[in-house]
Amino acid sequence: LRVLGIESSCDETACAVVALEGDDPRALRIVSDVVHTQLDVHADYGGVVPELASRAHIQHIQPLMQAALRNADMRADELDAVAVTRGPGLIGALIVGVSAAQGLAHAIGKPLLPIHHMEGHLMSPFLMARDESQVAAMEFPFVALLVSGGHTLLVHARAFGDYRLLGQTRDDAVGEAFDKGARLLGLGYPGGPAVAALAEGGDVAAVKFPRVLLDKTRFDFSFSGLKTALRTHVLKHEAQMLEETYRRDVAASYQEAIVDTLAIKAVSACRHVGATRLMIAGGVGANARLREKLDVACREAGIVLYRPPIRLCTDNGAMIGAAGAVRLARGLFDQHAPVNPIPRWPIDEL
Ligand code: ATP
Ligand code: MG
Ligand code: FE
Repeated sequence: LRVLGIESSCDETACAVVALEGDDPRALRIVSDVVHTQLDVHADYGGVVPELASRAHIQHIQPLMQAALRNADMRADELDAVAVTRGPGLIGALIVGVSAAQGLAHAIGKPLLPIHHMEGHLMSPFLMARDESQVAAMEFPFVALLVSGGHTLLVHARAFGDYRLLGQTRDDAVGEAFDKGARLLGLGYPGGPAVAALAEGGDVAAVKFPRVLLDKTRFDFSFSGLKTALRTHVLKHEAQMLEETYRRDVAASYQEAIVDTLAIKAVSACRHVGATRLMIAGGVGANARLREKLDVACREAGIVLYRPPIRLCTDNGAMIGAAGAVRLARGLFDQHAPVNPIPRWPIDEL
């Protein structure tokens, strides 16, 4: 099977052709993969501006669909299906992808597969090339830590299509915690890489920021208290904040508090459900300190950690094509179901 995957839920316009023989996700293969990131469109605003995102998607979606097909050396009518992110995401942004996908699927007379964005993310470790992973190929069941600008979730993926939400953020997403923290530290957008760069070489124990762990058997997150603690600290130490070494220490301590919380919760979630595999995805998955911490914590707990390369951690079309290909191969879709975008769509409802 060959499926075109289309993603436009946030600030990436992305298209990819994915191939699958049989119906085992481990046989998934990326044939072509193109992404346009809108970073420069939103940089001046310190966050994603929905209206600008929609407009940029409109500009790029057709050229990207064509590029994905051209790079795969295929004509559109050689596709077996078109898969598209139906939600969750920005409504205007989703409409662009869904409309383009509907048009193409109709034109070639092939099924249109509406995909949950988070199911897409769950597919990313299956798309890792053998040489990227030093570990065994990914298999169900596993726990997923999905951390991005819009989401902070722990999901128990029991089988393909069978997902249970273990916990999510009660306030800010972890990417937002980085972005808002960056602003307080006088850094630019996106905040994650900026905070990580400033934190390098800083003392992670310089400032005692809170680790909000809430209940030990629940896996929800809360980051707004941490952000407030940073604001208070910065205001109290205005003079010291002018020194580069001090700012480094504050950034390192702040990052450490976030990363600690994520690592502790992810590993205890695995223990709670008896999972021996943990995967990480989302833009915050790029954070080197988080990767380091998870590496150590998982080794100690006997958990195999799957860390897809950054290009697969952030939003991409391949993960959507992958979810679509498995759904198509297993007949897990309703050809007559409506495909209207769903901006809020809990993964449990899949
Ligand atoms: P969605 O939530 O729909 O996946 P998104 O576009 O908000 O969408 P991503 O593109 O996956 O999410 O990730 C962007 C987020 O990742 C930003 O908040 C950014 O600050 C954060 N980020 C990127 N690199 C790093 C890093 N090295 N450390 C920490 N955070 C990072
Ligand atoms: Mg993004
Ligand atoms: Fe995403």
